[in-house]
Amino acid sequence: MAHSKRLLLFTAKLGYQTRSFEDAAHKLGVQLVYVTDRCHRLEDPWGDQAIAVHFETPEAAAYTVMEAVRGQNVSGILTLGDRPAVAAAYAARGLGVRYNHPAAVEACRNKLRTKEVFRDAGLNVPWFQKLPIDPTPEPSLLGISYPCVLKPLSLSASQGVVRTNNRQEFLAAASRLQRLLQSPEILATRQPNLHQLLVEGYIPGKEVAIEGLLTDGELSLLAIFDKPDPLEGPYFEETIYVTPSRLSESLQHAVEKCAKASVRALGLAHGPIHAEFRINEDGVWPLEVAPRPIGGLCARSLRFSLDRESEPIGLEELLVRHALDLPGCNSPREATASGVMMIPVPKSGVLEAVSGEDAARSIRGIAELSITARLHDAIAAWPEGSSYLGFLFARGNTPEEVEQALRQAHEKLSFKISPTLPVEHPATRRMTNQGN
Ligand code: ADP
Repeated sequence: MAHSKRLLLFTAKLGYQTRSFEDAAHKLGVQLVYVTDRCHRLEDPWGDQAIAVHFETPEAAAYTVMEAVRGQNVSGILTLGDRPAVAAAYAARGLGVRYNHPAAVEACRNKLRTKEVFRDAGLNVPWFQKLPIDPTPEPSLLGISYPCVLKPLSLSASQGVVRTNNRQEFLAAASRLQRLLQSPEILATRQPNLHQLLVEGYIPGKEVAIEGLLTDGELSLLAIFDKPDPLEGPYFEETIYVTPSRLSESLQHAVEKCAKASVRALGLAHGPIHAEFRINEDGVWPLEVAPRPIGGLCARSLRFSLDRESEPIGLEELLVRHALDLPGCNSPREATASGVMMIPVPKSGVLEAVSGEDAARSIRGIAELSITARLHDAIAAWPEGSSYLGFLFARGNTPEEVEQALRQAHEKLSFKISPTLPVEHPATRRMTNQGN
C-alpha cells in the first residue's frame, strides 16, 4: 500500500523545495526521510525524520544511511542539488534501491570527466584541457585557441565560468578564478578539485535546458526550455527559461536524441535529470547533465496534468510518484506555456532596497514573483556569484506571451545595491571586497 512506502530525500538545502516534497509525501501517504548535512536547521533534528551525514565523504555517508534504516523498507531515493548525488548513489546500491551507479554520478560531478565521457562516446565536444590554478600556466604555451571558456571543475550554477577572447583576458580570468577558488567561502564547501580549472573551446549558438525522467535507462523528456537571452559571456548567469520550445520539430528531436546519447554515455539509469545543450550548424552539443531536478524555485515553472478533473500537480509530486513507482508518474506537462526568469544580479554589493514588486506582479501573465535575496545582505554578481535576486514566473497561451510578460515585469523592478566596504581578512590581513 502507498502509505507504507518510505522515500529517502538527499538534500543539502532545506527550504521551499523540500517543503513541496513534504506536501507531496503527505498527500500521497508516503514517509519522507531527509538525509542531509543541515540537520541543525531542522525542527526535529534528532527525530527519525532526518539522517545526518557529510556529503563530501560519500561512502561513509552511505554507511550511516544504511545503519539508520536497518530493518526498514526503503522504496525510493531522490536527490536535490549537486553535492549529495554521490552519497545517494552509494546508499542506493547498499539498499538495493533503483537509482544511478556511483561512477555515473561521479562523472556528472566533474566537468573534465563529463567531457571525456562525451568525447569517447563520439558526441560533439569542443577541445578541452585541465590546468592548475596556482601558478597560472602561460596561455601562449598551452596550444589553446580563442575564444575559450575557463571554469572550475565542480562548481555549479555557472559560478566561475568565464569566456576569454585573448591572452590578456585569459590571464585576468585565471587570477580572478584563483581568488574565487581560494576564498574561504568556497574552501569551506570542501568540494573536490578546487586546485584545477578546465579550459575549453567556446561553442557558439543557441542554448536550451531540458528536464527529463529516466526509468531503468529510458529517458523521457518532461520539457525543453528555450533560453531566449543570448548567453555569449563573458559570464553566464541564467535569465529566462520558457517552455514549450520554439525550436523546429526537427531540432527538438535532435536535442532529444543528443540527451539520450549523453545519459547513455554517462551511464545514468534512473530518476530526474536536468541538462544543458548548445545548438549550432554543426549540431547539438551537450554541455552538462546533472542527475537531479531543476534547482529550487525554478521547479515551480513545471506543472503536470494528472487527469482532466484534478488541479495540475507540481514537479515534486511527479518525482515522488516516479521514485516510488506510483500511478501518474508519466503525466504530461500542462498545456499552457510557462516560463521563469532568474533575476540577474547587476553588480556585487549590499542589497539595500527593492521596488516595483506590485507593478511587476500586475503585469498580465505573471503568476508569481519571489525576491529571495535578503535585504542588507551582500550579494555577488557572476562570475563570483551563484544565487539570483529572485524569480519571476509567467504563464500564457504562447511562449512569446510568457517571455514578454517576464521582460515587462522585470523592467518594473529596481534594486538598490550599494558597494560593500572592504574588510580585513582576520587571518591573512589582506583587504577583501566580497565579489569584484
Ligand atoms: P555549471 O555547471 O556551473 O552551470 P557549465 O559548464 O554548464 O557550468 O557552464 C555554465 C554555462 O556557461 C552554460 O550553460 C553555457 O551558457 C556557458 N558555457 C559553458 N561552457 C561553454 C562553452 N564551451 N561554450 C559556450 N558556452 C559555454
